[in-house]
Amino acid sequence: MKIIKTLTAVALAACMSLGLVACGQAGDANSSSGTEDASQAEAQTSGEATSEDFYITEITDDIFARIKGKSFKDDCTLPREDLRYLHVLHKDIDGNVHEGEMIVNKHIADDVLDILRELYENDYPIERMRLVDEYDADDEASMEDNNSSSFNFRFISHTTRISKHGLGLAVDINTLYNPYTKVVDGERIIEPITGEPYLDRDASFDYKIEPGDLCYNLFIEHGFEWGGEWTDRKDYQHFEIPDSKLAEWYPENVE
Ligand SMILES: [Zn+2]
Repeated sequence: MKIIKTLTAVALAACMSLGLVACGQAGDANSSSGTEDASQAEAQTSGEATSEDFYITEITDDIFARIKGKSFKDDCTLPREDLRYLHVLHKDIDGNVHEGEMIVNKHIADDVLDILRELYENDYPIERMRLVDEYDADDEASMEDNNSSSFNFRFISHTTRISKHGLGLAVDINTLYNPYTKVVDGERIIEPITGEPYLDRDASFDYKIEPGDLCYNLFIEHGFEWGGEWTDRKDYQHFEIPDSKLAEWYPENVE
């Protein structure tokens, strides 16, 4: 357990109310990113987080009601008990503090909470962290909004095996600026499609994940692999648990 620092009640209240507002407005997220708010600036100056800001819970009935039929699809074969809800704070590129939510597998919940807390405490920018359910579990819409997320149930195409996002064992960070790309039958696929300008990894831009940066280092230290280092495709937003752990935790899900 790390040292828990105290945040003033005023700053905490400001922070929480802002976060609640931010979390309820997935649709107009793009239009609000440039606005500056005095109370937001006030909240960020404290810069210290409490256990009320960073915590893990099981999937309560309230949370389940938000994900059922969306990320927790009707054909979901992963038990609800295998998932955990993470509540965190994160900072955007301007240092504004936001409330973040993420659902991940129980096996990586502590690791991901530690990573997100370290990123927050070191001012590593993450623009948005909402449940993908706020985008009706539409990955493309979530990625175009630069949303960071993990669990979204799906099988690997033409198999009965669950994908790593479907198990909550993969985490995507700052998705618009760190797109996925693969060439299939001579055609380049890019997800999100609006992420095309950010396939130039020599260019300099905000929210870019690179080997050696804090986000990369923390995920690697916690045993994840980075999709930006794959050779048959590139998935710059993507950190996942290696197959060896998958075989240990979900042997029935391995080929
Ligand atoms: Zn991913």
